[in-house]
Amino acid sequence: MSKRHLIIGAGAAGIAALRTILKEGPQDTVTVVSEDREVYSRCMLHKFIAGERDAEKLNFINDDVLSGPRVEWIRGTAVSRLDGAARKVYAGDMELAGGDTVLIATGANSVTPPIGDLRSAVNAFGLRHLADARAIAEAGKSAREIAVIGAGLVGLDAVSGLLEQGEKLGLSRNITVIEMAPTALAINLDAHAAEAYQRLFERRGVVFHLGRKVVNTRSEASAGGPRICALEMDNGRSVPCDLVILAVGVRPAAAWLEGSGVELTGRGAVKVDDYLASSIPGVYAAGDAAGLSGIWPNAVKQGEIAAQNMCGVPWKYDDRFTLKNTVNFFGLLSLSLGAVNAGEGDEVLIKEDRRNYRKLILRDGVPQGLILQGEIGGSGFWQYLIKNQIAIGKLGKSVWNISYGDFFGTWDNGEYKWVLPA
Ligand SMILES: Cc1cc2nc3c(=O)[nH]c(=O)nc-3n(C[C@H](O)[C@H](O)[C@H](O)COP(=O)(O)OP(=O)(O)OC[C@H]3O[C@@H](n4cnc5c(N)ncnc54)[C@H](O)[C@@H]3O)c2cc1C
Repeated sequence: MSKRHLIIGAGAAGIAALRTILKEGPQDTVTVVSEDREVYSRCMLHKFIAGERDAEKLNFINDDVLSGPRVEWIRGTAVSRLDGAARKVYAGDMELAGGDTVLIATGANSVTPPIGDLRSAVNAFGLRHLADARAIAEAGKSAREIAVIGAGLVGLDAVSGLLEQGEKLGLSRNITVIEMAPTALAINLDAHAAEAYQRLFERRGVVFHLGRKVVNTRSEASAGGPRICALEMDNGRSVPCDLVILAVGVRPAAAWLEGSGVELTGRGAVKVDDYLASSIPGVYAAGDAAGLSGIWPNAVKQGEIAAQNMCGVPWKYDDRFTLKNTVNFFGLLSLSLGAVNAGEGDEVLIKEDRRNYRKLILRDGVPQGLILQGEIGGSGFWQYLIKNQIAIGKLGKSVWNISYGDFFGTWDNGEYKWVLPA
């Protein structure tokens, strides 16, 4: 029997779910509703700011999946309400669509802390949506003093985009980054690996204030609202600015579900079970809205799994190993898996030369985390070891020389198997 499916969101998770449904349910139809008018990769927004790619070149789908005969795409429309029992969605009072199953794949929004005028200022922007990147690119052309709050991946993405924009357009301006943590990229890397990036940014003129909080803003009145002209830090110093970028984190875009009956977690994400089903039968969630992870490949995986379940093919989301990060600025590549900092009693092994930095954290001979900077090949093998908590302490050779070969054996029938060291 054919089914009608409704997907809210046309990002990484929504599009992956759409593709899966079209394959798994050959008779099924799908309605996709998205607030965005375009489909684009958020991971590439800095390239838009830089002027390196236009909106079309951010599109990560290169086929007509959204315009096929079994698909209706309602774009540029924000869903404001879900009637969970009827599985229908509304924009204001207008009924938009309904389905036998519903997928919530609405992603996340930038967090704006309630400090000074940050929430109402006309010159403060998050970086999550294409509209944000458009606003930043435009404001960046006339800005002389740019302040970025947050030195995580998104904050530094914004800085790299603005640096490139400045180079291309011959703009002269100051860029200052304020970060509460003692290092940049604190979630992704350890202090040593993060400092390598900090130096690369500093070489291009960027100033960092690490371990500092923004506690207030100073603003001037303008037609549209307050215009921030300085950020005050907790050490009493101020950073002048005419453009502020907020990169202090995201919150799942799920507040609109209030009153729908869909249960949310304490962090505002859709609460899902192992099958990515919400508290309402037939309603699923995937990607950043489900709050299980905040990275692209996991959003895709979750979209695929939720869609299988929506088609009646039970599939568990059991790969909850989310601690994988890649960083690439100015050609310097890094990858981290699992923990980036050692816990008490952990053994830390480091190998470093002029071009590469490698750090492995072991607990009782079992790898807990790995950082590769420079050459990042061979990480799939390490991901397997960390995720499956495979002991490597008794191999009797340097950890930097072990390979798949140390763990593989063959059955009598020639089939490969993992052979764990005794
Ligand atoms: C600047 C930046 C850089 C990043 N870099 C990386 C990276 O290098 N590597 C990585 O793995 N991840 C990166 N990420 C994270 C990655 O982009 C996200 O994890 C991923 O996009 C999540 O996919 P999603 O489908 O859950 O949500 P999204 O891609 O955000 O898609 C959400 C969709 O829902 C729609 N929507 C939202 N609300 C509504 C509503 N009320 N009604 C209708 N539609 C709605 C939106 O229009 C959109 O179509 C980055 C994110 C940003 C912002």
